[in-house]
Amino acid sequence: MTIEKIRVSIGSATILGFTSIKLESPPTTIYVMTYKKGKCIANCGFCPQARNSNSLNEKLSRINWPIFPFKDFLTKLKYTASLKKFQRICIQTLNYAENLQDLIEIISEIRKVTNIPISVAIPPISKDELKDLKLCGVQRVGIALDGATQKIFEKIKGIGVNGPYFWRSHFDSLRDALEVFGNGLVSTHIIIGFGETQKETLKLIAELHELSILPGLFAFTPIEGTKFENMIQPNINHFRKIQLGRYLLINNYKKLDDFTFNQKGDIIYFNLNKKELRNFVEESEAFRTTGCPGCNRPYYTSKPSGPIYNYPRKLNENDKEEIYKLLERFVN
Ligand code: SF4
Repeated sequence: MTIEKIRVSIGSATILGFTSIKLESPPTTIYVMTYKKGKCIANCGFCPQARNSNSLNEKLSRINWPIFPFKDFLTKLKYTASLKKFQRICIQTLNYAENLQDLIEIISEIRKVTNIPISVAIPPISKDELKDLKLCGVQRVGIALDGATQKIFEKIKGIGVNGPYFWRSHFDSLRDALEVFGNGLVSTHIIIGFGETQKETLKLIAELHELSILPGLFAFTPIEGTKFENMIQPNINHFRKIQLGRYLLINNYKKLDDFTFNQKGDIIYFNLNKKELRNFVEESEAFRTTGCPGCNRPYYTSKPSGPIYNYPRKLNENDKEEIYKLLERFVN
């Protein structure tokens, strides 16, 4: 075994028994990240791992990812997996020369101790490399678009930040992943808060859904030391409307044409009545963390003190009332 170290999110490290911190909501997935001395070779403007960021190396989004010996991680994983404390393992992969080699070794070693489903979040790779990942036991793949439009993508992770990424090749890789892994087993993420309109975001979500790619949502979070450290988080109304729109689209309750947008691209009517909205809020799924099955990423982009963009837990009555009041104006 050549891998010596791995980063584990602080919440996952607590579930595994490496650390003991008070968890507002325990993670339902174990989140790990490839370890590399230094930073990622990409330069996404929101990311503490970016090549030019001055953030702590330990961070990804607002979460700390301390380093542990890989063999200790495997031992803890073996013991904890049998206690059924989590439903999935998610491996975040930085972009660097040997990342695929490291990833394959990590997956192969994990497979020796548990058969819990594995998801990987990776930069675009070739179809043959995707096949290798499938062969060694990966169930789902995520390739993050992050931007809701090509223009935003270029600004936050492409040419605008001297990053290596292109919108087209991200899409090509998502399509390759679909061919290799199959419909419904490929995900992407969109970060809300870079000036996207609700209309363009939901248009992208509808397109991805049509392709059988699962789109998840994050709220932009400014992290000290990153290029975008001084930007603010998105307006919660904007985020909630996109969350509800996404939920209606990906569950085939509505099509994009069912929504009414104003000239600024804001949704002004969801084509729902109040009773239907009440039921969706009561059921709450639309406002929970989105991503692979079993993923709740607690407080990845929200402070526990609020506002909570993606709920990692069941909504309480206050949460539901707040959300209903906010969206009530857009139904009849
Ligand atoms: S590729 Fe991923 S880890 Fe690397 S800078 Fe971009 S978001 Fe961060």
